[in-house]
Amino acid sequence: MPWFKRVEKGIHTPTEEKKETPDGLWYKCPECKAVTSMAEHRKNMHTCVKCDYHDRIGSKEYFAILFDDNEFTEMDEHLTSGDPLEFVDSKPYPQRIVATERKTGLKDAVRTAYGKMNGQDITIASMDFAFIGGSMGSVVGEKIARAIDYARKNRMPFLMISKSGGARMMEAGFSLMQMAKTSAKLALLAEEGLPYISLLTDPTTGGVTASYAMLGDFNIAEPGALIGFAGPRVIKETIGKDLPKGFQSAEFVLEHGFLDFIVDRKAMKQKLTDLLSMVMPQEAPAPEKLKKRKAAQAS
Ligand SMILES: [Zn+2]
Repeated sequence: MPWFKRVEKGIHTPTEEKKETPDGLWYKCPECKAVTSMAEHRKNMHTCVKCDYHDRIGSKEYFAILFDDNEFTEMDEHLTSGDPLEFVDSKPYPQRIVATERKTGLKDAVRTAYGKMNGQDITIASMDFAFIGGSMGSVVGEKIARAIDYARKNRMPFLMISKSGGARMMEAGFSLMQMAKTSAKLALLAEEGLPYISLLTDPTTGGVTASYAMLGDFNIAEPGALIGFAGPRVIKETIGKDLPKGFQSAEFVLEHGFLDFIVDRKAMKQKLTDLLSMVMPQEAPAPEKLKKRKAAQAS
């Protein structure tokens, strides 16, 4: 008996149902296992056409989605990390940086840029998980701080897209200082009446959650994103209890009041535009006005 037996003779596929696969690449959804062509997956902004699973993407894709015609000016693109602690794990830190740069084509775990989103000026910082787990070291903190300064100077909103495993181990205390630095810069942005939107994507954890990612005027997330501080195992061992179902998902975090809303990637650009049109100060307060307001507050 043959291993395989054809039940129906001939395979009839109408032309309109035939799929072109010029690059021969397919995408299989890890959630529902549906298979689509890579081209279609890209067109759908890297979300599953069947179950809407949001695939992880990087700064390149987010900039293409949000900036009009993918036009933007990148800032500090050549800033790279030093080795303040002469850190060595399985290899010296500088070697790890060079190897990661070569592998990813990135200089560090965040890229910052300004441009227009539906005609509105905006500064965006977007993290890349591919670069040492999207870890926050001195370069990440410094680039974010400078991007916030740019937004302040040019009176435009700031959008932070987080995707991170937390602080960068190889820079230890220097990484932790970035939490204070970025938080202080965000406080200045708020003082000047400029909106800050924080978008948490899969995954946002550790020192990033504990600093800039949760400091938005609006904290929003993509569906299904893992959001937390410590990992579930550490928490379980600490509190000695089982964790609730769906713990640390964007939906769970929203239900418990830590997020303002969850937004589908395909609706992201319009939703952000609508939101900013409501909160962006119509008439930017001049520096003198601001000074007066501060003086009035102080007295
Ligand atoms: Zn799916």
